[in-house]
Amino acid sequence: MPAANWTPSSWQDKPAAQDVVYPDTEHLSRVLGKIKQLPPLVTPSEIERLRHQLSLVQRNEAFLLHAGDCAESFDACTQENISNKIGLILSVSLILIWGARLPVVRIGRIAGQYAKPRSSAMEKIGDREVLSFRGDNVNGLSPDDRTPDPERMLSAYFHSTATLNYIRGLLSSGFASLHHPRDWSLAHVRSPGLRTEFERITEGLGDALGFARTIGLGAERTPYEQGGPPGVLGEVDFYTSHEGLMLPFEEAMTREFAVPDSSRPAGDAPQPTAFYNTSAHFLWIGDRTRQLTGAHVEYFRGIRNPIGIKVGPSMEDAELIRLLDIVNPDKESGRVTLITRYGAAKVEKYLPGHIAAVQKSGHPVIWVCDPMHGNTLTSSTGHKTRHFGTIISELTACIRTHTQCGSRLGGVSLEFTGELAADGFSVTECLGGSMGLAEAQLGLRYQSFCDPRLNFEQALDVAFLISGHFKR
Ligand code: PEP
Ligand code: MN
Repeated sequence: MPAANWTPSSWQDKPAAQDVVYPDTEHLSRVLGKIKQLPPLVTPSEIERLRHQLSLVQRNEAFLLHAGDCAESFDACTQENISNKIGLILSVSLILIWGARLPVVRIGRIAGQYAKPRSSAMEKIGDREVLSFRGDNVNGLSPDDRTPDPERMLSAYFHSTATLNYIRGLLSSGFASLHHPRDWSLAHVRSPGLRTEFERITEGLGDALGFARTIGLGAERTPYEQGGPPGVLGEVDFYTSHEGLMLPFEEAMTREFAVPDSSRPAGDAPQPTAFYNTSAHFLWIGDRTRQLTGAHVEYFRGIRNPIGIKVGPSMEDAELIRLLDIVNPDKESGRVTLITRYGAAKVEKYLPGHIAAVQKSGHPVIWVCDPMHGNTLTSSTGHKTRHFGTIISELTACIRTHTQCGSRLGGVSLEFTGELAADGFSVTECLGGSMGLAEAQLGLRYQSFCDPRLNFEQALDVAFLISGHFKR
């Protein structure tokens, strides 16, 4: 079953874009040796379950929600931040279930989303030229702490473990129960319109659930569980993901396991094994590291996890198919998710060609729209921001284009946060939305050290808009 001529370290013979150079390589080897000994964060059967659920998405029987922070930080690993984020993901998924009338597969950008690709290796801070900040698992945000330190990878492992442990605990203790959605959803929503609309949905779903129980259907399941109890992280299914950028770390977390029984072909053939990246259920290749002959594509082709590939305007039609041939030669359903991120004005120029090429190739893919990364701008106040209206326009252009091309949008990839500022109000990083956030307000509670994220209310706004599109 393992890919031909592949090992967890075969990527080392290829050029790695966004490579991190450590001054002390012996220290690096010691840390990686330690990580190799540490237990997996996720298991092969959880990964296989996600593969199965993604194959349902690919067949239009479920919808995918991929969401969370652009980057996590060690300091933001707190009880409040994690429960707010999970609460927001659950709320958004509920709104999508209501509109799409489909189960929603939830994958968080969480419990390991620390590394960031950068457009330049160096940056100017004041009159100093320093190494760029590459994420908490590489170096520090402070300009005095930019030397890559391998200990940060170990710290990332333990922060991921703490995050995941708390998520597992929350979800297996009834946090996601529809019986008390207020615990995880509305505490921070001030807009009466949004509150009423959301309450209508939870009550509607609650009634549907009660009715199903009365007539003896799905007695043990919530309406947004995909079946096959128990859910991966407790009462509902929830999966983790991060960009697979730091290949030394990813390699150290890659382990060979027997493929779980339920995922094996029938018959008496010897039990096959596969290499699983056990640091997250789902990993994606970023738009800056998807070179066909590069180290990242080499690493990704050999792991059994379902993977995402970011697809930007510079992707050629033929290149996309060559990439799919490399990472999914057997054309397995549920293996590859294409996450398009062109920029609102470019969707119509690039998406039809990409769809046509994929259709011709016969590759089974899930199409996901990331309306965030092609729409980043700098405000007149000097903040890196995104406008709600542009985000919606990329989303609607994607939905429309898929329909016109005989395809279908299978999911969305969003950067949002349930994080609150010290004064208890939502962060102010993206413009617009039902709260009409203006440029002058960006500086009030701008907390992201990476890309601007939709706040609680803006994320619900996006969910209602998508939901409304599906209802039509
Ligand atoms: C991201 O998802 O945070 C990211 C950096 O995306 P992209 O690779 O599409 O630019
Ligand atoms: Mn980002």
